[in-house]
Amino acid sequence: MKHSFTKKIVGWFLAILIGCTTVFAQEKRTPSSPEDIQRGLTAGVPGNKWKEGLMFEGISPHDHLRSAANWYPNTEDVQPDEIRIIFMGTAPFIRPGQMNTSVFVQLGNGENFIFDLGEGSISNYIASGFALNELDKVFITHLHIDHFGSLPYLFEFGGWAGRWHKKLQVYGPSGRTPEYGTNSMVEGMKKMLAWHTDAFSVFPVGEGHSIEVHEFDFRDNGGVIYDKDGVKVIHWQRSHAKDGASGYKLEWNGMSVVWTGDGRPSELDIEYAKGADVYITELQPELVAISSGVQGVPPFLGRYTIDTHHTPGYAAGYLANEIQPRLFMTTHMPFDPYINEETVAEVREHWKGPFHFGAPDGIVVNVTKDQIWVREGILPDYPNSRAPQFNFDNGQLVVPHPPTKRENIQEPFVREKEIDPKKYYPTGYHPELLTEWPVEGDLVAPVDVLPEDLKQGMGASWRLKKKNKERKEEEGKEKKEGKEKKKK
Ligand SMILES: [Zn+2]
Ligand SMILES: [Zn+2]
Repeated sequence: MKHSFTKKIVGWFLAILIGCTTVFAQEKRTPSSPEDIQRGLTAGVPGNKWKEGLMFEGISPHDHLRSAANWYPNTEDVQPDEIRIIFMGTAPFIRPGQMNTSVFVQLGNGENFIFDLGEGSISNYIASGFALNELDKVFITHLHIDHFGSLPYLFEFGGWAGRWHKKLQVYGPSGRTPEYGTNSMVEGMKKMLAWHTDAFSVFPVGEGHSIEVHEFDFRDNGGVIYDKDGVKVIHWQRSHAKDGASGYKLEWNGMSVVWTGDGRPSELDIEYAKGADVYITELQPELVAISSGVQGVPPFLGRYTIDTHHTPGYAAGYLANEIQPRLFMTTHMPFDPYINEETVAEVREHWKGPFHFGAPDGIVVNVTKDQIWVREGILPDYPNSRAPQFNFDNGQLVVPHPPTKRENIQEPFVREKEIDPKKYYPTGYHPELLTEWPVEGDLVAPVDVLPEDLKQGMGASWRLKKKNKERKEEEGKEKKEGKEKKKK
């Protein structure tokens, strides 16, 4: 009884409400004065007419962003003329919120570049929706483990996950002597991974176990180490206590991004990073005494580490002011409340221009010629891996035949001790087990016969690359036509 009475009351209330809105909607009212509208709607701010606070010209969200506040993986395409930077690892001390340093640079032409690949950072690549086999160019600034700790994982699991048709490309400096160079590190890594590599040889491999190392002379300041499809990467020496530490500048489409890696502030940084659109350096806050109290590190260890290896906050701002980038960013830093405000104050001593932290993990930067915008990326804790990405230019998916099989790398005894599946699968359920690779030789499948979801999933990057290329060509045509019209 009581229940139906409540229902009645709610019903009347709704009826009255609907009636009222109908009446109000129909009645056209006299508009407020322009001054009142201005005051009421914009709180006195004349729209986009003035700059607020410390926001700068050209620091504003692009139209194509789904949200100006956050970046969500798999929701936005990199635009044909755009550079997108994602901070995949941001600290020298690994912890759940901050993996070791890695700066990911994606270009509108469909290429991507990894600058350093610190321990744990690979999980953020996966969370950001990238397939391991589309990550094939790694530039390492120096061989401290917090800058390349995820390389073994990318090498092995990237190979397993479809890097069958291209070698992993690793760029890095030489050392003072050969045993300290990038070549030597990769040789050592391969030795460390011998068991794993042989074990994964029961899977398709192709080029998956190949690395091409591009070791360059660390002294060759300004040397070009990558020059392809309009993308150029140069390097220069950094003072980081031991020879064989480098900074990188990537140039493409009239824009440039610098990642310095670790090192003391240097004249060389100013020379080679000058005028970069986005200048990213490492930064250590001048908080040795406080940090030693908070973290329990003896102050002499902190002070000595900074003064022989790193860029103090004041120096970072000084460098930025000399280099005059469109956006200055710092990373490789603890992201803690007690440190952050101090860091800004130290940077601001010399640098009054646009500044953002490249931390914590997942910070996303969209860069075009007119605009730069920085957002927090929302990376899931439990993402799915993206499907392996393939180039379907020739209309085929080619799966190489595995180089070996279990019989070759495992004695029969332990295999024979495997429990008979009939004993554990429930009655009436027995999947067709795949204990032998199902085909002789390489499997060559025309893309047309692939199930639609595989075709879509595995061809996503390839399609975007084609789309952006077509858009660029369209724009080029339109520009040309516009010019010709003007001439007439
Ligand atoms: Zn480091
Ligand atoms: Zn270092």
